[in-house]
Amino acid sequence: MPEQRTSSCPILWLTGLSGAGKTTIGSALVKRLLLLGLTSVLVDGDELRQHLCQDLGFSAADRHENVRRGAAVAVLLARQGIIPVVAMISPYAEDRLTARRSAFPCRFIEVYIDTPLEVCRIRDPKRLYQRVSSGEITAFTGVSAPYEPPAEPELRIKTEEYAVDVAVERILTLVLG
Ligand code: ADP
Repeated sequence: MPEQRTSSCPILWLTGLSGAGKTTIGSALVKRLLLLGLTSVLVDGDELRQHLCQDLGFSAADRHENVRRGAAVAVLLARQGIIPVVAMISPYAEDRLTARRSAFPCRFIEVYIDTPLEVCRIRDPKRLYQRVSSGEITAFTGVSAPYEPPAEPELRIKTEEYAVDVAVERILTLVLG
């Protein structure tokens, strides 16, 4: 029955600071799900900002709207039986809660990619922290804009402790349980 299919189709929501590892782990997770025969798509915050959300900036209001659109895309996919792996900073707890509520009856699995700011700063995969230091970027999450860590995520991945493949397996175990 359709109700059963939608209610079991999970939405994986990866939140964390820039450079935490959301895209890296999310991409690997999608590949792994595809290998298992499950259709999965990465909904990447950076990509959304290049098209669907290109009209949005980084004010609190725009960040709310950015996350709302990401969640809307994820819910559309989940309702078609596709597993969305959302990789978005999604800094506000309230927005993640709204996303969770909008997902119902799909299972919403919030995964906190928990990487300390100093580690993200050193990794700096997109050279954004460098641009923050030089003053070129303002209102940057974790530095000059808030990040509200999830209080009770379904899973917390400390990337200093887990290699990417280990992180993927931990998430998979939770999803496929
Ligand atoms: P985000 O999407 O959260 O902004 P990215 O995935 O783009 O972050 O970048 C994370 C960077 O950290 C990549 O260069 C990745 O190779 C590196 N990295 C090092 N160790 C890990 C790990 N255990 N998990 C995820 N990423 C890691």
